Amino acid sequence: MSSLLVDNIGELVTNGAGEGPLGIRRNAAVLVEEGRVVWVGPSAYAPAADRRLDAGGAAVLPGFVDSHAHLVFAGDRAAEFAARMAGQPYTGGGIRTTVGATRAATDNELRATVRRLRGEALRQGTTTMEIKSGYGLTVADEARSLRIAAESSTETTFLGAHVVPAEYADRPDDYVSLVCGPMLAAATPYAKWVDVFCERGAFDVDHARAILACGQAAGLGVRIHANQLGPGAGVRLGVELDAASVDHCTHLSDADVDALAGTAHSDGSGTRTVATLLPGAEFSTRSPYPDARRLLDAGVTVALATDCNPGSSYTSSMPFCVALAVREMRMTPAEAVWAATAGGARALRRDDIGVLTPGARADLVVLDAPSYLHLAYRPGVPLIRQVMRNGVTP
Ligand SMILES: [Zn+2]
Repeated sequence: MSSLLVDNIGELVTNGAGEGPLGIRRNAAVLVEEGRVVWVGPSAYAPAADRRLDAGGAAVLPGFVDSHAHLVFAGDRAAEFAARMAGQPYTGGGIRTTVGATRAATDNELRATVRRLRGEALRQGTTTMEIKSGYGLTVADEARSLRIAAESSTETTFLGAHVVPAEYADRPDDYVSLVCGPMLAAATPYAKWVDVFCERGAFDVDHARAILACGQAAGLGVRIHANQLGPGAGVRLGVELDAASVDHCTHLSDADVDALAGTAHSDGSGTRTVATLLPGAEFSTRSPYPDARRLLDAGVTVALATDCNPGSSYTSSMPFCVALAVREMRMTPAEAVWAATAGGARALRRDDIGVLTPGARADLVVLDAPSYLHLAYRPGVPLIRQVMRNGVTP
C-alpha cells in the first residue's frame, strides 16, 4: 500500500473542521492512502509516507464538483452566440440545432467531444462532473448519449425531456409517453438521475411531474431545470419530488424560496434540496443573474455549476463561475468556493467528495496562489497548478 503526503500547504480548504465556513487550516498537510484522505493536520506533525508532494506554501482545496453539464453533443453554436451578443434574445430554440447535429454524429465523434471537454474541465480543477444526455431525443440516441457519458462519469443524467423534438412538435403528449416508456427503459441502465427542462417552450409542470415521477419509480434520483427564463412552478415541483437539486433558480417567488428553505435538515446542515446556480448561462445569454443572497439568507444550500453546453453556456471553467458568483451575485469568495465544491457534492447527494477530511476521496487541487481568494480576485488566470483524483494525477 503506497501512501502520499501533501505537505507545506499554506492554506488548506477542508470544508470540514477548521477556521470559518471553509474549515481552513494553515501550514497543513494531508495524508492519502488508497485514494482516500486518512489524516489532516499541521505539516510539522505529519506522519511519514512513501511519497511526498510539497505544495510550496500554496493553497489546496477540494477538487471542484460540477453538478450540471451537457457534454454529449455535436457541433457548436458560435454564430447564435454572436447574434445574441448583437441583440437577439435567448429562447432555448437553438437546442434543436444541436439535436440535429448530435443525431448525425458517430459514437466516436460524440465520445471525442465528451473526452475533450472532460479533460478541459479537469485541467481547471473539476474532479467530479455530472453529464446529461438531452441532444439525442430518440430512444437510440438518448441511450447512446448516456452510454458514452457513463464512460467519463458515474454522475449521469437522463434528460430526454430537454425539448420536444421537431417531429413531435404538434403532439407533445405522445413525446412524454415515449420519454416515460421506451426511452426511460433504454436510458436507465446508464443513468443515475432524471432531469426535465421545465420551462415555457419546453415542458410544462404537469409533463415535468409525470416524467420525473416515472424516472423516480425506475430508481433514478430527481433533478430539474427550473425557473430559468421566467417564473413558474418548477422549483416547487422539485421540492415536492425530493429533488437533490433545482437548477438555474433565476426567477423565484417568495413561495419558491420558502419551499426550498422548508427542506432544511434538522441539524442545521443546510437544505435537502439544493439550489444550483449557473451564472455562466446568465453571462452567455446576457440575462439578469439569480439572487444568490436571497437564497443564502433564507438558509438554502447553494451550489455553483457550469451548465457547460454549446448554446447557453459554453464554459467548462468552475473558477470562472466562482468569479462570476462573487462579482455578479454578491456571494463572498468563501461562499462561492464552498458552493463550487461541497455545494456541488450536496447537489449530487455525495458526502465523499467536495471535502478534504478523513474518509473523503483524495480529489484535490493545488493552486498557483497562496489563497482560495485568488480564484475570484484573479479572474481568467490559470491558477490550477496540479489536480489529483483518488490521490493520483490523472
Ligand atoms: Zn442545463
